[in-house]
Amino acid sequence: MLFPGPTYIWLAMTISDSLSKALDAILDPISGKGLIASGRAGEPSFSDGTASAVIDVTGFSAHVRETLEAAAKEAMLSVSGVTAARVALTAEKRGRRIIAVGSGKGGVGKSTLSANLAVALRRMGKKVGLVDADIYGPSQSRLLGTEGVRPTAQGQKMDPVISPFGVPMLSMGQLVKPGQAIAWRGPMAANAMSQLIDAEWGDVDLLILDLPPGTGDVQLTMVQKYKPAGALIVSTPQDLALIDATRAIDFFRQASVPIVGMVENMAGYACPHCGEHSDPFGHGGAQAAAKSIGIDFLGRVPLDIAIRSRSDSGSPPAADADDAVFRPLAEKLAAWLNPAKPAAF
Ligand code: ADP
Repeated sequence: MLFPGPTYIWLAMTISDSLSKALDAILDPISGKGLIASGRAGEPSFSDGTASAVIDVTGFSAHVRETLEAAAKEAMLSVSGVTAARVALTAEKRGRRIIAVGSGKGGVGKSTLSANLAVALRRMGKKVGLVDADIYGPSQSRLLGTEGVRPTAQGQKMDPVISPFGVPMLSMGQLVKPGQAIAWRGPMAANAMSQLIDAEWGDVDLLILDLPPGTGDVQLTMVQKYKPAGALIVSTPQDLALIDATRAIDFFRQASVPIVGMVENMAGYACPHCGEHSDPFGHGGAQAAAKSIGIDFLGRVPLDIAIRSRSDSGSPPAADADDAVFRPLAEKLAAWLNPAKPAAF
């Protein structure tokens, strides 16, 4: 047939209609609306027995993508008159994302949490790296068991050091002699942090950034130049620490960096001898503060001598198969970064 006749056009129109309905009966896991209604897919096309659809799968895991592709093909093939179905998946290309771990003041466990989160995420199969920009106390080499290992460089770019836990890392402490970095002026420190972030990270798609406490030059450079995907705030339960944490939260909010949530560290102490539970720094302060500020509370890390001793010996507890402290926090962070992965998939 050289030109389609009226009957053929009418048939094709009803098939197109049925195809759209079939595709829209598949729900977008994020909005819960049909693929077409949610804008994930355009109207499918139909020609010579073949139906074609384009679906935007930005933000979905590989598993969700495959599931959607198979469901779309099946739905289109169920329309009578369709003998073949083609589905093209498109996605916005996303660069490496940064999660900044910040606190209002030092000594609250920001580095400990950053290291253990990175290790827990790695154990979950994430391509995660760690940057230690905490100029006042670069401690990640010790925490991740890479003390004394110097990073190499390819031309201008540094190669991260791979820790025994599979997490590639770079630290301010690797750039200078111990104790020297603290004498740097703000812009020098910010420059050094840029070198670490712009290193040769390979296929790492998530960087955990251990920031110095407070809201100085390093933090400013970080939010202006690198636009982190989110900031996670660590605090201990005391009022004073919480007031500082609130300042850090304000800083990120003003810079339009989304807040992932607050983690309470050194919460509750279980005596290793008698088992009695006590709360040397108070109880529930961070959770209450998070609620009043309107951010999520992600969970608690107990005050535990083992956490300190294992940190000092470069053996992060998150590497343990039965880690029940850091893993749930890492899972919350992963879910925050990839909200498209519903339980049903
Ligand atoms: P920050 O990065 O906020 O300065 P660190 O992570 O360096 O804090 O922690 C400060 C000290 O507290 C370290 O000696 C660390 O081992 C210890 N520490 C951190 N969190 C805990 C915890 N939950 N239980 C016991 N010791 C902890």
